[in-house]
Amino acid sequence: MISQNGVDYEQILRLYRIAENKGEQILILAELTASDEETIIEVLKDHGVFNPEDIADSLRTCTGCGRKYIARDRRGRAVCPQCAFRRRKQRENEKKKKKREEKRRQEDGR
Ligand SMILES: [Zn+2]
Repeated sequence: MISQNGVDYEQILRLYRIAENKGEQILILAELTASDEETIIEVLKDHGVFNPEDIADSLRTCTGCGRKYIARDRRGRAVCPQCAFRRRKQRENEKKKKKREEKRRQEDGR
């Protein structure tokens, strides 16, 4: 039996089958196997266990890139993890830039 980070496919399939919230379960399985949602969905598809309707309720459309993704919670703005990460980096960079400019202004004022 081939395994994904020590968790074998039998286990993945079993945990998915018994899950009530299948969308959430895909996220959990992705964490458990240190992979990602796409990989888990591929495994499920390969074994004929995946039905897109099962996760339809968990899907949201990202307002950043338009990609459909499995949402961990349905509150707040719909942003996929990749876009959320990119935005966080962007904000950090802007903060750093502001700090640099601030410093330069102070030095010029002396
Ligand atoms: Zn996105």
